[in-house]
Amino acid sequence: MIIGSFLNVVIIRSVKNESLGGRSSCRSCKTKLTARELIPLISFCIQKGRCRNCGAVLLKQYFWVELITGLAFSGVFYMLATTYSPWDTDNFVKWLIFGLALVSSAIVIVATDLRSKIIPHGPVIVLLILGIIASVNRHGLFSGLVTDLMAAIVIAAFFFVLWLYSKGRWMGLGDAKLILASSLLVGYPLSIAAFLFSFWTGGIMGIGLILLHGRNKIKYLIPFGPFILLGSLLAYIFGGGFLMWSGLIYLL
Ligand SMILES: [Zn+2]
Repeated sequence: MIIGSFLNVVIIRSVKNESLGGRSSCRSCKTKLTARELIPLISFCIQKGRCRNCGAVLLKQYFWVELITGLAFSGVFYMLATTYSPWDTDNFVKWLIFGLALVSSAIVIVATDLRSKIIPHGPVIVLLILGIIASVNRHGLFSGLVTDLMAAIVIAAFFFVLWLYSKGRWMGLGDAKLILASSLLVGYPLSIAAFLFSFWTGGIMGIGLILLHGRNKIKYLIPFGPFILLGSLLAYIFGGGFLMWSGLIYLL
């Protein structure tokens, strides 16, 4: 949750191109925050979501990002603890660092895209590096990375064309870069399932929002980054079963 508190700073300052250093302060009255105002979740709850000095309402993002980071880090730890024996410290530590970097980047991307409709470069580059590591680790350099990369480029090219054709209204350029990274992370052929899942979940959400708010209000406002990452997560869990069940595996 302490890392989550730092990710909040990244999410807010990266959009404004501010540096990540320096003490945190209230965005309204600029009072520097003391240690007791920086305790994850607890400070937010004690202060009832307001600044202790000026009473300005704090972003709910502070609370949610801290909570979700804490849960996601625990989830990564639990997953690895059930996969590797406690004596296999090499693998455990290696994949722990990998997993924590992965969920941190994903959280920053989702929160920034929801908040500012921007997919920040830094965390996408981190995901791209992690994707290359994951790909090489799965099947080696040639049979693994080359195949995964070719599939990832085809999928990203589809997003790139959507971006170009719609002049950024349906899809951002950031979405194309993000799906390139996430396709490498899940690898071929799961990346095909991830691609379909992200369109389906995004589509269901889009139709839901249109039904709720009417067509005109939500134009261009649905960020797609969260659905790319959700699609990849779903593909990681259910992708293999889905490709078998649908028979797509015989086409790929
Ligand atoms: Zn204040």
